[in-house]
Order: sequence, then C-alpha cells, then structure tokens
Amino acid sequence: MPELRTDWLTGRSVLVAENRALRPNEFAEGSFAVLSASIAPLGRTLSTCPFCAGNESCTPPAVYEQCDGDGNWRLRVVPNAFPAVFNLSGAGNANGTDTAAFPAVGLSEKWQLNIPIPGVHEVIIESPFHAERMTEVSQPQLYEIIRAYATRLRHWRERESLCYGLVFKNQGSKAGASLTHVHSQLIALPFIPPSVEAEIRRAAHFFETDEKCAYCDLIDQERTLGSRIVFDADGFVAFCPFASLQPHEVWLMPCEHRASFELASTSDLKQLAVILHRLLAKLESVIPHLQYNLLLRTAPWADNYDAAYHWRIELLPRVNSLAGLEMAAGVHINPVPPEKAALQLRSA
Ligand SMILES: [Zn+2]
Ligand SMILES: [Zn+2]
Repeated sequence: MPELRTDWLTGRSVLVAENRALRPNEFAEGSFAVLSASIAPLGRTLSTCPFCAGNESCTPPAVYEQCDGDGNWRLRVVPNAFPAVFNLSGAGNANGTDTAAFPAVGLSEKWQLNIPIPGVHEVIIESPFHAERMTEVSQPQLYEIIRAYATRLRHWRERESLCYGLVFKNQGSKAGASLTHVHSQLIALPFIPPSVEAEIRRAAHFFETDEKCAYCDLIDQERTLGSRIVFDADGFVAFCPFASLQPHEVWLMPCEHRASFELASTSDLKQLAVILHRLLAKLESVIPHLQYNLLLRTAPWADNYDAAYHWRIELLPRVNSLAGLEMAAGVHINPVPPEKAALQLRSA
C-alpha cells in the first residue's frame, strides 16, 4: 500500500508507491535520453565540444586551473557564460543578467522583487579529454575534482557578502545538463535559500533540545538499523534516506561530525574520491543509462553552524520526471522503497 513518508529534518514529503513501478517502460532501456551521439574514445577530444582541451576560446578565461608537470591543464574553472546570478567570478555577466535590462513594470513595489543578486556561478570542467561520466575519469582525477570543489568553496567563503555555497552536477539531460562533457557547477549566494534555512532551523532546534547534531543522530540510527545502508567503512557512510525523493537516492556523509566539506583534510578527500567512484559505479550497474544530480551540501557561511550542521553529498538519480503533484504540492512519488534500493546497491 502506498505510504506518505515525511522527513522531519528536510521537511520533504514522498509517496512511496511501489505499484508505480509496474507502469510500462519505467526502467526500460531506451526510455532514457541518449547522453551523446558521438562518444569519443578515452583520452581523445572533440573539436565540437567547448569544454575539451584545444577549445579554451569557447569559454570565458579560467579563474582557476590544475596543471600537470608539462603545464597542460587537467581541470579548469571558468565563470559560467550564462550565469544565474550577477557573477562576481571573473569578468562575468558577458551574456546578461544585468537586471536593469529587465525592468519589471506594472506591479507595486511590494510585488516587484527584481534586485540584482551579486553571487558566483562557476563551471568546473573536470577533464581536458572528452569524458561524459564521472566514472570514466580515473580515481586520482576524481580526487583532483573533489579538491577543486573544496578549493573554490574555501575561496568564496572568505567573501563577506556571500553566505551560502553549493556545488552540484547535472548528469544527463533529464538531470538538467545541456553539455555532455564532464563538469560541475558552483553557486555562491548572498542569502541562504529558503529550503536550506528551514532545514538548518530544525537542525539547530534539535541541537538545542537534544544537545547532539541531528545528522550524527540520524547516522547512528541508520547504522543501527542497517536496512538502508549501502556502504559503511573508512570514515564514511552511504545510505538511501528514509524519504528518498527518487529511486536509489543515496546520501554520503562523514561518520565523524564535520560541518564544512571545504575544510575536510586531504586524506578525507582522497578517501571520499575512492568511495564516490565506487558508489557511482554501483548506481550505474543498477540503473541503465544513469542520469543524476550530485548535490554537495556544506554548512552556510553566514553564521556559525559548526555544531548543528553536517555536510553531505546527495546522489539523486533522475528516473522519474517531475510532474504535476511534485510541482504543485512539493510531494514526490517514489516507486522503489529505499530499503529495497539499498539492498540492490549493497549487492551491486
Ligand atoms: Zn568535451
Ligand atoms: Zn554531525
């Protein structure tokens, strides 16, 4: 029988409805958009891809690079050419977002919120070669990617006007990607987004009443229960959350209490690269043509959340499109119980 699950911490609501999996073509091969018609062999570049080595003029100049011994770049960070904010990164804003160009007319001041948002929108180009999946890059390269996430977040957290940073990856068109070459994005904002603020308020309240980090408590309970655990070793735990929004959603967290991802030690980041590589391979083996969002959530910079917040990576496979119920009511439908998903991933 379908059941409504509500996650107390995040406030998310999910209808776990296993019968929905019986619909035709739900997991059928071919029902997913093909990632690319022209996959280049490993170590090769495509002349048509703006993120491949040799096509650097197709992007704004890099604001950060990691290079090999010969001076060739292995990873580049460039300002997003089409930023969602008034970009503080690089020269930025070459393609607009100057809100003065879009005056909102006809509404009273109360309704009209078109304030320029000075923030950061960067693209992390994760390989000079044309790879389309994070599992195609080597584990050492995956560590370099994770190190770049931490380096750029540390860079922007020093800027007083910014109070929240998020790194995310859209893998596949269903997840919102428009280019196939492996890349992630970093957004830094001068405000804490409402859904994040609501979660932090609950976590801070839990800390006040229970004198413990809510996320540490959640980890303890999941480890004791065991049925939703996917991986638990080497200082990290991965589990399918109780109210998973989509089939096979996985949260990856450090077992020790850590609020800020960007302050993690080198050895922790190296370990994380190994585990993330393994988790993505597991997901790819369970879900053909995996498309997903990777969300890296770290403590906001606005205040001191060291005690109450705990960083995590969410891997959110995009199997079902967001439809009317999700858009109208914020209630998601998930046809695969997280306990079953965790079992599949453990044995993958
Ligand atoms: Zn490419
Ligand atoms: Zn904690």
